[in-house]
Amino acid sequence: QPVLAVVGRPNVGKSTLVNRILGRREAVVQDTPGVTRDRIAYDALWAGRRFTVVDTGGWEPKASGLQASVAAQAEIAMNTADAVLVVVDASVGATATDEAVAKVLRRSDRPVLLAANKVDDERLLAETASLWSLGLGEPHPVSALHGRSSGDLLDAIVKALPEAPRDHDRPAGPRRVALVGKPNVGKSSLLNKLTGQERSVVDSVAGTTVDPVDSLVELDGEPWRFVDTAGLRKRVQTASGTEYYASLRTKTAIDAAEVVIVLLDASEPISEQDLRVLTMVVEAGRACVLAMNKWDLVDEDRRHQLERELERGLVRVPWAERVNISALTGRSVRKLAPALRTALQSWDQRVSTGQLNGWLSDLIAATPPPVRGGKQPKVLFATQAGIRPPTLVLFTTGFLEAGYRRFIERKFRERFGFTGSPVRINVRVRE
Ligand code: GDP
Repeated sequence: QPVLAVVGRPNVGKSTLVNRILGRREAVVQDTPGVTRDRIAYDALWAGRRFTVVDTGGWEPKASGLQASVAAQAEIAMNTADAVLVVVDASVGATATDEAVAKVLRRSDRPVLLAANKVDDERLLAETASLWSLGLGEPHPVSALHGRSSGDLLDAIVKALPEAPRDHDRPAGPRRVALVGKPNVGKSSLLNKLTGQERSVVDSVAGTTVDPVDSLVELDGEPWRFVDTAGLRKRVQTASGTEYYASLRTKTAIDAAEVVIVLLDASEPISEQDLRVLTMVVEAGRACVLAMNKWDLVDEDRRHQLERELERGLVRVPWAERVNISALTGRSVRKLAPALRTALQSWDQRVSTGQLNGWLSDLIAATPPPVRGGKQPKVLFATQAGIRPPTLVLFTTGFLEAGYRRFIERKFRERFGFTGSPVRINVRVRE
């Protein structure tokens, strides 16, 4: 969802105005001694539009002097937010600091709105016209304390904010599944088992056009679209096709899918080819279920060995659910549908900015990022910028080491789940 940053010098009423925008009365955290000031991002809703409000009062850019530090905040806001709200105190008029902020923001390529706060009476209303001099467009008179005109300001804000980036809209209809794995792992056998055991609905779904390369299969009472199965449905596999061709096919299927069943042969050592398939799934950002096939061939010894192989082999997908199946006997094949559902739920899941920042600031307070070059990187705020796959963006004042990012991901999963889905963490460093 789009981000609105609120900037302005101290005491202009930023916090009170933020509360107005959020539609609540209590003081924001920064007025409460002892409460972490890192919690600076909040979810707001106005006229059916959701957006994130960031109170830059919680930021601590390393600039000395009030004017420089407020200007630096404006700079960060301009670079990280989708729109910036500048708050000035109409009862005082434009000060040198307001001028400094305006100077930065006049360069902004994002929308900038000007709120003239503390307009508690008619006399001050007339004064607001002088704020046109800041060169930031029309001043919106408000009284954060009394709520005056904050509705008009909010209307202007949602109008200025870009539409939330569409989470690449998925076409209506059954969810798309790819069945992938190296040759002879049992893909055709599994597809045949699934279409045989469960009622195949390929020709019986009214109004559904099925691409001839796809199969519509009912699993657990629900239709699923298995993509790019034309080659799998032939019972007799032709040995033709180079590995290059097979890998291209796999990639096409993964790209066309939302969730991928990666078939591994439990009776054989995990191979390089298996790992390449897993890497493709992770890089494509698809949800994933691991199906350990040919489980009927696995004895006690093999099982122990397999556990050790998986520990090393699955480092990229420790979050994927594993189902031990046999396409031959049909063992546990019914467990696939619930696993697919869980994975898609994670893939679609969104954590609100408020929840995310509340959790993250506690985590970081307890285990701060490692110091680099004598500096302690700070995480200014975080937002889940997208789903499918879930993507977090962390705005920081310094580089976060890969190990620390993995730590954040692990803790994030412990807290919020996301079984079966990759989670991306992007870090944007702001000085
Ligand atoms: P694909 O190349 O991935 O489509 O693999 P196939 O479905 O053609 O299967 C390759 C071979 O493995 C065939 O001989 C299957 O009968 C056999 N196979 C598939 N699944 C199983 C299983 O669960 N257990 C056993 N024992 N054999 C299987």
